[in-house]
Amino acid sequence: MQTEDKKLYADIVIDIAVEKLDKTFQYRIPPAIAGQVEPGSIVEVPFGRSNRIIRGYVMDVGNKAVFEPSKMKEIRCMVKDSSLVEEDLIQLAGWMKKNYGAAMITALKTVFPVKKQIRAKERRFVVRQITQEQAEEKLKFYEQKHQTARYRLLNALMSAEEIPCEFVTGKLNVSMSVVKALEEQGILAVRTDKVYRNPVDGRKASGAEKVLSPSQQAVADAVRRDYEAGIRRTYLIHGVTGSGKTEVYIEIVSDIVNRGRQAIVLIPEIALTYQTVMRFYRRFGDRVSTLHSKLSAGERYDQFERAKRGEIDVMIGPRSALFTPFPNLGLIVIDEEHESSYKSETMPKYHARDVAAFRTRLAGASLILGSATPSVEAYDRAVNGEYRLFELKERVTGGKLPVVYTIDLREELKKGNRSVFSDKLKELILDRIAKKEQIMLFLNRRGYASFVSCRSCGHVMKCPHCDIALSSHQNGRLVCHYCGHEEPGVKKCPKCGSAYIGGMRAGTQQIEQMLSREFSGVRILRMDADTTKEKDGYEKVLYAFANHEADILVGTQMIVKGHDFPNVTLVGILAADMSLYANDYRAGERTFQLLTQAAGRAGRGEKPGEVVIQTYNPEHYSIKAAQRQDYTGFYHEEIGYRKLLSYPPASHMLAILVEARREEDGFTVSEFLSGIIMAGHDDRIQMIGPAKASVTKINDFYRFMIYVKCADYKALTDRKDAMEEALLAYDGKNIRVQFDFDPMNAY
Ligand code: ADP
Ligand code: ZN
Ligand code: ZN
Repeated sequence: MQTEDKKLYADIVIDIAVEKLDKTFQYRIPPAIAGQVEPGSIVEVPFGRSNRIIRGYVMDVGNKAVFEPSKMKEIRCMVKDSSLVEEDLIQLAGWMKKNYGAAMITALKTVFPVKKQIRAKERRFVVRQITQEQAEEKLKFYEQKHQTARYRLLNALMSAEEIPCEFVTGKLNVSMSVVKALEEQGILAVRTDKVYRNPVDGRKASGAEKVLSPSQQAVADAVRRDYEAGIRRTYLIHGVTGSGKTEVYIEIVSDIVNRGRQAIVLIPEIALTYQTVMRFYRRFGDRVSTLHSKLSAGERYDQFERAKRGEIDVMIGPRSALFTPFPNLGLIVIDEEHESSYKSETMPKYHARDVAAFRTRLAGASLILGSATPSVEAYDRAVNGEYRLFELKERVTGGKLPVVYTIDLREELKKGNRSVFSDKLKELILDRIAKKEQIMLFLNRRGYASFVSCRSCGHVMKCPHCDIALSSHQNGRLVCHYCGHEEPGVKKCPKCGSAYIGGMRAGTQQIEQMLSREFSGVRILRMDADTTKEKDGYEKVLYAFANHEADILVGTQMIVKGHDFPNVTLVGILAADMSLYANDYRAGERTFQLLTQAAGRAGRGEKPGEVVIQTYNPEHYSIKAAQRQDYTGFYHEEIGYRKLLSYPPASHMLAILVEARREEDGFTVSEFLSGIIMAGHDDRIQMIGPAKASVTKINDFYRFMIYVKCADYKALTDRKDAMEEALLAYDGKNIRVQFDFDPMNAY
């Protein structure tokens, strides 16, 4: 401990009865423990008139007394035993504050849910309760009796396990009195999305425990052996979609639960479907609970209380489920570990993977990450031996991986085909329409923003300093959003001289129009931010497509996730390059993930699938690797690029976003902060910027970015601490500063 670090006073929260979190009391730090007390520490303090000794939680330390120091009470001692889950969580909040930047109170509020008594609106679903065979008989019966509403409803329940009530009364035009009647006969049940109930026996039987395949069993056994040997570590399961990862998680969770400990399973919100959750319910019954964003704060609080009281063993949910206060946590699973939704978008901008690693370490628990396309970070740690790697290379059900064609759009242009559909794609679309099979067309709109490329040779205008695509601005100039480099726009391709150079502008709506022009009579559904804006829009489109109400589903990246459509045998990726030139360093990784996942949508049923990837850059490694479905090949190229330019995980990167009500202040503060970053002339530290952010102004705040690269994370958090301290002098109403370590998105 350095002496100058020793702070004199501590702001302490006495009771984490959550609503009162903002109320702190200041105490003197006695010399004996000076330097040890820091935000997140737990201490004993005298409190109230009687000076009874109680626990306090340190929010902040400093040298400024808020009242007369001689009248201030003194901390009695530090509390070190961490037998209470709250103490783990406080420490976790302290760790998050330190590693990601945020006020301690903000970090604490992230970790403890606020107790509020607001009930969320619930959505209702209709679920079939009888077997397929029983339902088929009923359908015949309804047909004979001309009970058409009953027929429509039950028929819809043959292809989807559950249907939202709005869809039943809307699209299916079946009244709730019909639903009631069938519910009374036990043909279906109505459930709310807050409470998943254990299904009736008929269903339970169908979900009987599966016998794991030898490769699945090998993973479960290896984790069990480690556990029994007292080894706690992080595992990465790299397994293609359908390779049985979820089944492996269930097996390992079950083992942990049998040992009297609890497990948290994180899955991305969008994958929190009935099917996935049901698989856990079948195994663990009502010892499972779920969290999702539709729960109100109060309901989330109630679920956490149940966990604390030991009423449940397994919590399934998105990022925030990490903070479930299980008293004896034994395991955290993070499925689809590469998903960007695991990174918080508000301060503290933490990544679930690293917070989970810290929490499992505190709790003496294990951590399992799983993905078909692991993040470069996680795979790199596995390659370096920090994580233990397992590979599952085949689909359990034996389904074949699809055939992938890459189409060079430059060649199409040469042939005179100027439409957005290549000849190959058109041919395959016609074939599928004739066979009454379904098609998904995927328009990669990520980073659609504004890169400029040549349709003749594929050349992309990039920053000479950062190797990132330049963004074209309204005024026609090309700008780099990492370093601020600017150059004039171009009319001709600097590489081949073609005049076909510009931005890509087609959206899903235009694609829909072009499709109906090109293939008359084809039935199209569209899924994008527009068509899913209304409540349940997302589900409605999916159910309609599952119901074969359309031949083609056109959509943005939303369509690549979640649901299985067994009748989809063709997937077309219209412009694979769009995400390749998003203006941040993860563009190649994201492209590979999107293409691989989109390709995985084809041929999920009995029939084999085909995939068409259209691109101007068939030689780009992300696209070549996606075509070969070769993750390792991709990883080796990508890590080479990251090393060359010191991007994470080869190095660490701190993004600092400065927002100011007045543009001049933004400049001044950015300059001031860059002075702090460069103070000490540490030559391991590389600073880029300050520059204007790619979105220069939001809600009347001007935005500036500074990026700092350094291989040593601690050096970056030290700079962050220094900046946080210096910023106390600024008025937080007009100047806001956010820190983002190893950012997932460009600003
Ligand atoms: P992933 O999570 O890797 O996508 P899942 O665990 O969802 O894979 O498995 C894919 C499909 O195979 C699911 O329908 C699942 O029920 C089934 N499955 C998984 N493991 C087995 C097994 N050992 N025996 C039979 N079916 C299995
Ligand atoms: Zn060109
Ligand atoms: Zn640049």
